[in-house]
Amino acid sequence: MTPGPGPSSRSGAEDWSDAARAFEARHEIIENFRYPDGIRIAVNFTADFDAMLYRRALDEPPMQKAKGEFGGRVGIWRLIELFDTHGVKATFFTPGRICELYPQALRAAAASGHELADHMWEHLTPKEEELQRDHIRRTADALTRIGGVRPIGTRSYYEQGFLKDEGYLYNSAETTSRLPYYAADDRLENCLLILPFHFSIDDAQFYNFGWFTSEPQAQRLTDPERIMDMWWDAFEQQYELGNGYLNICLHPFVSGRALRTRLLGQLIERMKGKEGVWFPTCAALAQYVLANFPPRSLKF
Ligand SMILES: [Zn+2]
Repeated sequence: MTPGPGPSSRSGAEDWSDAARAFEARHEIIENFRYPDGIRIAVNFTADFDAMLYRRALDEPPMQKAKGEFGGRVGIWRLIELFDTHGVKATFFTPGRICELYPQALRAAAASGHELADHMWEHLTPKEEELQRDHIRRTADALTRIGGVRPIGTRSYYEQGFLKDEGYLYNSAETTSRLPYYAADDRLENCLLILPFHFSIDDAQFYNFGWFTSEPQAQRLTDPERIMDMWWDAFEQQYELGNGYLNICLHPFVSGRALRTRLLGQLIERMKGKEGVWFPTCAALAQYVLANFPPRSLKF
């Protein structure tokens, strides 16, 4: 077997430089980004309402599926009540199939002014173009039937061109910057606004346990107090910058457990104790950014 060019070889280094340049050309950081007067930070509470759909697709053991069921029957209601109590507008990234499983909860979320956004059809990204387009369309239709508004946001890895064709404006599935920014596809077309989130502050990374086939040492059951410290540190660091952004990713089957929901309430109260904290939906933030800081070099 002949080894390929390694990272230190000339051609390898050139490939990497080319890749870096192509990446840079696809992304546009918003210079001089600022919020409306008086706002220092936007906090997007986002909940991926997947109810472990992917685990169902893998046909995992009943106890695993039951966790998802808890999210759809109990956890989601707790999160809606939590956000309503604290006057926070949240974004629920929802697979289309969930509209068939838990329509009442989604109707309640929409009636409270929360945003319903795309999180794939069955939590999968089909390779075939027609199937991918079909999944995007079907989810948009299902969410529109429930919420009465066509979704403009997604957390997915679909082709951007297919998303643009269905009217999507933003994606919240990557982290190239700490603030909202723009990203085009490989042909420098089909630009979307990106609202960055990261797994490092995703509740499932710290609270979830019993991943399929995982060994005992891979089980993670962190104390809520530890998560409070972590989220608070993430918030404070951004707040102190004077134009911060925080996108906290939750899951109803994870943070819908009572002790965790209670902690979230304490976190929101603590944030509200500071001046200039904005809790919009992702859609409201996206509309603000698009209206005030449209892309300058990429075509939207
Ligand atoms: Zn998900």
